[in-house]
Amino acid sequence: MNTEKKHLTIAIDGTSGSGKSTAAKNLASVLGIEYIDTGAMYRAVAYKALKEGIPSDDDRAVGDMLAQTEIDFVKGRILLDGEDVSDRIRTLEISRAASEISQLKSCRAKLVEIQRRIASQKSVVMDGRDIGTNVLPHASHKFYVTASLETRAERRLAELKEKGAETTYEAVLKDLRERDHSDMTRKLNPLVRAEDAIAVSTDDLDIGGTLAYLLSHIDR
Ligand code: C5P
Repeated sequence: MNTEKKHLTIAIDGTSGSGKSTAAKNLASVLGIEYIDTGAMYRAVAYKALKEGIPSDDDRAVGDMLAQTEIDFVKGRILLDGEDVSDRIRTLEISRAASEISQLKSCRAKLVEIQRRIASQKSVVMDGRDIGTNVLPHASHKFYVTASLETRAERRLAELKEKGAETTYEAVLKDLRERDHSDMTRKLNPLVRAEDAIAVSTDDLDIGGTLAYLLSHIDR
């Protein structure tokens, strides 16, 4: 009997608020492998740039900053230069800045390099926008998760409210619409479904249903 564990690389891409992160986290937990939230990496870079007053459209300055930056994951938490910033990066301000900074060549090059290194060392579920198309084109499994703009806005609003953020449905809807546009139309690695990715619409699926659907496609 072959008892050796397979090296799994599971790519989950999709729009903001589609439920892909929850699905990815749950899938990783059931499979007993690491979950890598690449959106959190772009958010961490945006957070540091904001803190240091570096414009999120200055490729050279962001590149210089990144040469002096460490980004790591420990037990599902993101460490920026050794500091756990997992909770601080979940604001609308950082969402917008992350979407902007993710368009820079210097930023994508550095983060993609880290993402590929992690995936080469261990089995991962990695979620983001360009995982199946660019970061891990030979991933063992690829999914593309979406939901309607309205469903996503309702979910994101509930999430933000739970954290005590003061915002409105309209503000969240506007933010998602703008981020969809910028993620899908940017020059470098835009959000697009990889040809070999399985499409999953979560409009009519709850968290358990989404997980069951993903698992049904994974050959362990
Ligand atoms: O997934 P999340 O909403 O946290 O990602 C924040 C931003 O980071 C996205 O709007 C997107 O612009 C960027 N991103 C990216 N490539 C990834 C993951 C996230 O450009 N692989």
